[in-house]
Amino acid sequence: MELKNCRRCGRLFGYVNNLLCPECIEKEEEEFKLVKDYIYEHPNCSAHEVSEVTGVSVRTIINFLKQDRLESVEGLSELLTCEKCGAKIKSGRYCEDCLSDLKRETKRLLNTSGANVNKTEEMGRATRDSRIYVNEDNHNHKHNYQH
Ligand SMILES: [Zn+2]
Ligand SMILES: [Zn+2]
Repeated sequence: MELKNCRRCGRLFGYVNNLLCPECIEKEEEEFKLVKDYIYEHPNCSAHEVSEVTGVSVRTIINFLKQDRLESVEGLSELLTCEKCGAKIKSGRYCEDCLSDLKRETKRLLNTSGANVNKTEEMGRATRDSRIYVNEDNHNHKHNYQH
């Protein structure tokens, strides 16, 4: 099983399909319920109000919106903007215009991926060269470090 760092607490965990470790997933589930219940009862609340009452960070609330898990209500719709053009959106990460742009862009990149491979190789060579240089440097000044 592949190991990954939990995006929330940084702990290593067996990666299956999640960015979070099992403990954080449980915590987020609880937070999600709190936020959802509160929004259900107070449809016009602002994100900061929700955050204050539930103790769930605004960032987490935005994440819920981005994951399409929360239905956007009036107060919260202010929060979410398209990551590309900044237009207000109700859920997800991009507005519809940018989504179709992105799809086109991805297709274009796939077609020119040959050029990118060469660039990566060049960068790899540069990194190796500088590493050799650093090693020599360490060797020459070794006695200095021992003072
Ligand atoms: Zn975690
Ligand atoms: Zn957009």
